[in-house]
Order: sequence, then structure tokens, then C-alpha cells
Amino acid sequence: MALNADKFIEAFMANLIAKNPGENEFHQAVRVVVGSVAPYIVENPWLIEEKIMERMTEPERVIMFRVPWIDDRGDIQINRGFRVQMNSAIGPYKGGLRFHPSVNLSIMKFLAFEQTFKNSLTTLPMGGAKGGSDFNPRGKSNNEVMRFCQSFMTELQKHIGQDTDVPAGDIGVGGREIGYLFGQYKRLRNEFTGTLTGKGLAWGGSLLRPEATGFGVCYFAEEMLASKGLGFKDSVVAVSGAGNVAQYAARKAMDLGAKVVTLSDSNGFIYDPDGLDDEKWKFVMFLKNARRGRISEYAEKYPTASYYPGKRPWGIKCDIALPCATQNEIEIDDAKALIEGGCRCVCEGANMPTTPDAIAAIQGAGLLYSPGKASNAGGVATSGLEMTQNSIRQKWTREEVDSHLHTIMHDIHSACVQYGTDENGNTDYVKGANIAGFIKVAGAMMDQGLV
Ligand code: NDP
Repeated sequence: MALNADKFIEAFMANLIAKNPGENEFHQAVRVVVGSVAPYIVENPWLIEEKIMERMTEPERVIMFRVPWIDDRGDIQINRGFRVQMNSAIGPYKGGLRFHPSVNLSIMKFLAFEQTFKNSLTTLPMGGAKGGSDFNPRGKSNNEVMRFCQSFMTELQKHIGQDTDVPAGDIGVGGREIGYLFGQYKRLRNEFTGTLTGKGLAWGGSLLRPEATGFGVCYFAEEMLASKGLGFKDSVVAVSGAGNVAQYAARKAMDLGAKVVTLSDSNGFIYDPDGLDDEKWKFVMFLKNARRGRISEYAEKYPTASYYPGKRPWGIKCDIALPCATQNEIEIDDAKALIEGGCRCVCEGANMPTTPDAIAAIQGAGLLYSPGKASNAGGVATSGLEMTQNSIRQKWTREEVDSHLHTIMHDIHSACVQYGTDENGNTDYVKGANIAGFIKVAGAMMDQGLV
């Protein structure tokens, strides 16, 4: 008897949860994908026989390792390192490294799983991986960060390489950390290759890589908005986070004529009803990247702004919301506040920032909504462009990289529309992104046999 999609989802998820107990973020990410692809799978029952979802949710390899290092007081510190190599069907593993105290196996697996679909959507040949550590760079000296990165890479270098696995940055891993990691990789392997992306411009980095995720989010949002005759011009934008993705999403939104009124960090958010301007944006760049300070200092410097400790920005009235901080930062009450505040579009810069019930509420109220695996793919796509430049030993201009980025975001949008649009012309970007990503990876896995 033919299995229906709902039964397939429930049976599949029950097995996954039993096999991976306590990995809540991983369960959440898988459930969203299975929810989208189940109708396609039950229509193609050979995919059930091939156990395609079981294979896609079992990492090809999980590496967990001890990272010992010595702090500035001379005390020994022990952290845990991870690399989850999820799927290499369409290319070498590719995905960022996250240094944050919340890092655990569940978060690594959810991110590596999402990365597989995201990388598939970019149109570039990259498999999916993610890694990191529960190390917290906040409050550490440069020397402590360097010693940690050197110890972390001493183990990680055994498992990566330019044709095997190419890590990049993520939360807590920016230009400084990539520099220390690359230096140690080069020293241990005695080779200068493009094994890490997000490198400095003088040593193999690509122009526009720092900007790419945030810019790409806005390019994607522009496409979504244009489908409803809307745009950034004269709109009010709420951004969360104040790190790499938030900084450049805010910059591009401003350049497209929007007023960006919020930024946040893990301690609270600032609301500036006058919006960011060039000077304020440059201050944020200095504050977060050079001084490594807190976003509350924005409100101390600019009296037009208020600081709300312990709160998220979603209660502020806005037309467009760009969550760019971390997972599960828009919960159901936040979604209701956005809807009541007149928001028209939620475009994710972070990975999985919206909880499933919040997504349902946002989509149910008819807002445009894009999952991070589609709208934040500009970062990894430009990392892919950095790999290409490293391989051909050439450097493209900023305009060339930006043009590639624009084309890729446009193509991802088209793929979402192709697979996610119903007979009334409404696009479900979650469904579109998941099905488009799935079909390509599943096809490649079938071609390569049972490996
Ligand atoms: P950064 O470390 O540069 O910035 C992260 C920002 O999010 C900081 O403002 C940080 O505040 C805040 N944040 C972190 N954890 C929490 C939390 N638990 N609650 C509230 N705020 C928090 O990271 P990125 O900007 O690189 O990454 C942001 C998001 O974008 C992540 O989900 C990442 O996976 C995703 N992403 C990043 C890409 C990239 O190219 N960098 C590519 C694709 C996705 P604080 O300073 O207090 O920690």
C-alpha cells in the first residue's frame, strides 16, 4: 500500500530521534526538510527503498577531538573540537567553523545538514560540512585566540585539504581566527593552498567575501520583494546581530535606500528611529571588529537610540526583518509581533533563526519568508568563488565577484520559485529551497552507488 507523506514523516522522524537522542536542533532542521521533500519521496517510492533520507541524515564522518591550550595566566584549558563531514556527493566538504560556548554535536549536525542543501542551491560543486568548538573568543587576548586556533588546527589539518574539505568562518570565527588557523595549517602541511576560505586579501582571499553573506541576503530579499512589486527603497528594516552578516546586510539595505533601525547582540538590542547612516555604520564596524565591544555602546554614543537589555528587536515596527544573529531567535511571540507591526518580508541571514511554529505563523499571515539555506547562501557561494580563484591563481575584481554573487542569488531565487510555487502563483521558499537542494544531492548520491 502506498505510504502517505505524513506517515512517512512521522515514521522517519521517530527513527531519527531514537537514533540521535537529545539532538534537538538537528531534529528540527531535518524535520523541516523532510516535511518539504516527503511528498516527492512518496511519489518516487524507489527513494524509500534506497533509504535516501536515512543516508542523507547520517554524516559521512564525525570528528570530535580534544583541544588543549594554555591561557595567559599559564593555566591549562581544554575545549572540544568538531568537524561534521555530512555529504560529499556534489563536491568536497565545505562549511564554516563556529567558536561559541553553545557549540555541541547537535548544533554541528544541524548546521552541516543545512549546509549540504545550501551548497547544492549555490550551483557550485561543494559538499556539506560544519565544524567548530565550544571555545568562547569573547574576552580572550589575541595570544589566547592564537594558541587555541593553533591547537585546534593541529588536529583538524589531518582531516581537511583543498580537494577534501575546505572550512571557513561562522559565529566567532572571522578574519583574525582564519589567519591563525591558516598560518598553522601552512606550517604543519608545508603547503600554500586554498584549504580555508575567508582569507586575508594579501594571502589568497577574495574581494567581497566579508560582505558576501549580508549583501547576498539583500539581493535575495530584493528578488522576493520585487515579486510583489515591493523593494527596499524607503522601507524600515530591522536587523538582528551586529557581526559579519548583520553588518553587511545593514550596509546593503542602507545602500538600497532603506532605513535600518535595529542591531543586536546576545545581551540586547538597540533601536535608532533615525536609522543608521554612514558615520553610525562605520562606528558599528569599529566597535564590533576592532574594539570587540558591545552593541549597548551604540546607544551611549548616539542619544537618538535606545538600548533594550535582554530583548530581541522584533517588537519594533518594520517592513523587512533580517535576522542575522543565531538559531531560534524568532520564536512564536516574536513572529506575532512582526506580523502585528506590519512586516512584509522576513529574509534569514542567520542559519535557522526562526522556529517552526514561528515560520508557520509568518507564512500563514502571507508574509514573504525565506529560509537561511537560500537567502544566506551568498557567503558560501563567494567562498566557492575564492576556491576557484585560488585554483586558477588569479584574483577577480570586486565587480566580477559581485556580478557572480548577484547571478547566484538570482539563480537560487529562481530555483525556489520553480519548486515552491503553487497553482495560485504563491511561492513557498522553504519548500522550493528544500526540494531543489534535495533533488540535486539525491541524484548525485544515486549515480555514485551505495557509499
Ligand atoms: P559573528 O560572530 O560575526 O556575529 C554573530 C552575532 O550574533 C553577534 O552580534 C553575536 O552577539 C550574535 N549572537 C551570537 N549568539 C547569539 C545568541 N545566542 N543570541 C543572540 N545573539 C547572538 O557571526 P556571523 O555574523 O558570521 O554569523 C551570524 C549568523 O549567520 C549565524 O547563524 C551563522 O551561522 C550565519 N551565517 C554566517 C555566514 C558567514 O559568512 N559569516 C554565512 C552563512 C550563515 P555576541 O557578540 O553577543 O556574541
